[in-house]
Amino acid sequence: MRAISAIIIIVIGYATLTNGKHSIINSLESGNLELIKEAAHKCVPVEQEDAGKTIILRMDDVQAFAYADISKMIIDDVIKRQMKITLGVIPKNFSKDIIMSKYLEKNICNLELALHGWDHSYSAEEGVYEFEMIDAQDAKAKLEAGKEILEKISGKNTMTFIPPGNKISPELKKLLELEGIKYISGEYESGIYGMDATTFDFVEYKLVENELVLKNCDERFKKNMFCVVVLHPQDYLTDDKIDMEKYGQFLDLLDEFKKRGARALTFSDL
Ligand SMILES: [Zn+2]
Repeated sequence: MRAISAIIIIVIGYATLTNGKHSIINSLESGNLELIKEAAHKCVPVEQEDAGKTIILRMDDVQAFAYADISKMIIDDVIKRQMKITLGVIPKNFSKDIIMSKYLEKNICNLELALHGWDHSYSAEEGVYEFEMIDAQDAKAKLEAGKEILEKISGKNTMTFIPPGNKISPELKKLLELEGIKYISGEYESGIYGMDATTFDFVEYKLVENELVLKNCDERFKKNMFCVVVLHPQDYLTDDKIDMEKYGQFLDLLDEFKKRGARALTFSDL
């Protein structure tokens, strides 16, 4: 809102200064439209206070040409509540999705782009995920290619890796650390940055009650620890369509965290 008012003032000021009788439309026509559009989308950082409770919203499976509407809706609603979010992005082909890439770029000051593997492949035969089955050389190449894609959008170093399926071999974990990855966020009890709560139960295949998510985080808060809450865009779909009842539960969860005075940071803010 503030950005829009500033733009209106600038536009009015410009029109008045250059030629009183020329309208705003004239200044728009004289090539300012692009500048104004750009300024209208300047990323405004959220404002949060530290009341001793911190969550990290970790949304996995953000990817090219899938779940765009629900992903954007989640990100918009998080930022609207003055919260930040870490996105686990599957980098393969992501730069080809111009619309999603531009959308993330516009909101980047409130987002962290984390690598979520390269293509999130899974071997059903062996029951292993991408970063459990590839060798070190392959992992290094995929990491570098993935970083390049994300960094083009974020303009920042990629510091976080979220293993697909939350699974990673110990050797590859070491390799990622050597390659400059500071935060590896895997499954429950997989280290300090691992998941502490999740909004979806993949065994029961249904949303987890908010009470349980909050209970897990309250336990973390009591120990003065941050709480990593894992979610996926597809958690809030039914038959590939946004399910407003399910989505309402997500908004309630965000509001409950706000009521507790929790702030939502990203791994790279820690
Ligand atoms: Zn995933």
